[in-house]
Amino acid sequence: MTNTNEKTAARLSYAKSDAPSPWATYLVQVERVAPYLGNLARWVETLRHPKRTMIVDVPIEMDDGVVRHFEGFRVQHNLSRGPGKGGVRFHPQVTLDETMALAAWMTIKTAAMDLPFGGAKGGIRVDPFMLSQNELEKLTRRYTSEISMIIGPQKDIPAPDVNTNAQVMAWMMDTYSMQMGFTASGVVTGKPLHLGGSLGRVKATGRGVFVTGREAASRIGLALEGARVCIQGFGNVGSSAAELFAYNGARIVAIQDQWGTLIDEAGIDVKALVATSHQTKGIGGSPANNEAFWDTPCDILILAALESQMTPDRARRTTAKMVLEGANGPTLPGADDILSDRNILVMPDVICNAGGVTVSYFEWVQDFSSFFWSENEINARLDTLMVEALRKIWACADRNSISLRTATYVIACERILTARQERGLYP
Ligand code: NAD
Repeated sequence: MTNTNEKTAARLSYAKSDAPSPWATYLVQVERVAPYLGNLARWVETLRHPKRTMIVDVPIEMDDGVVRHFEGFRVQHNLSRGPGKGGVRFHPQVTLDETMALAAWMTIKTAAMDLPFGGAKGGIRVDPFMLSQNELEKLTRRYTSEISMIIGPQKDIPAPDVNTNAQVMAWMMDTYSMQMGFTASGVVTGKPLHLGGSLGRVKATGRGVFVTGREAASRIGLALEGARVCIQGFGNVGSSAAELFAYNGARIVAIQDQWGTLIDEAGIDVKALVATSHQTKGIGGSPANNEAFWDTPCDILILAALESQMTPDRARRTTAKMVLEGANGPTLPGADDILSDRNILVMPDVICNAGGVTVSYFEWVQDFSSFFWSENEINARLDTLMVEALRKIWACADRNSISLRTATYVIACERILTARQERGLYP
């Protein structure tokens, strides 16, 4: 759990920022790690600056003939350990601030998993639910073309994130390949299977949430059989995690997405909900802003929607014994401290949702070698890598009496900053 020095340094920092922006949240997290970096601390400033930020105008002709312009971003936060890696988000609230934070969390995440990547992220400020399939394809292709000079299999490899999927990745791969004059399947991950995608990728992030949750439950002596689980977000990550927890005997008592809230003490039939939510828009139920979701008694709370959802008020109210951060940046620093003070275990995003980028790494490796692995192999390797990464993080947390989040940052930053130091500064 968090020690006093960690909290004091961080409180000073986030008190200075007016709004809890995702980038401000990230800076607080970096501030907390600095005291544990020894001689490498002289390089920590590098993590407070994205290496490269790109803002692009994405004009498309809509189906009704009107030309509309959308703002897009690609941020490469740090490339010390390898090419950039990180998803592309289509959402009305995408900003440069958010994309910078998401890219930075990718830097920490890939290093925490010891994958040979840096951190990057992209997005377009758009409500994709308002676009036709034709408009969505045009938007994706024009955005890809605009960022094509900084992405590539050895430079920066996008992947799916909120409101993007295998089809969007197929359009990105095709657009980039058309510009290059050859098929470059390694330019994105999360592609459809017959375009060089990997088995197990679609559910990999949710699987990683389950693996880290299973390990944490065993550590605090919580049986998964019969454990009550609440899940915010029922998209790629939330629904896959829900299925695995339900399969392992847990009772899913509440689910919330952007359209509605379902609460059922007897347990929600996750399999049936996955089938219907694909046909209808969302899960239905009572309104999405139903605060009762946060008061539903539970053992495990899975955050799998957007940033800044766990506020100090909700952190005071939750009855969960552990919080699993399937989403990126879902917990505000003030809420982190309250959860810590209440002895509620937080499995931080930078390890909890690392299953997706780990299988993306497997996909990238398979594309390069043109040799594809079985789903069992992929799931088993993912499990082994995540358990091993978590073991090291937990040992670091115990050794220094720090939170799992700060311990993950310690391990990741040691790797990133050692690479930075060994490469030296150019020129
Ligand atoms: P998705 O688009 O498949 O699903 C997002 C879900 O969140 C949907 O159910 C949506 O309705 C819900 N949601 C959005 N706004 C909400 C709100 N205000 N309140 C409640 N629910 C809301 O996206 P995803 O890929 O599942 O990503 C979810 C989170 O996981 C994001 O933070 C993303 O960055 C993170 N993540 C995703 C991956 C991946 O492989 N897809 C990997 C790592 C992390």
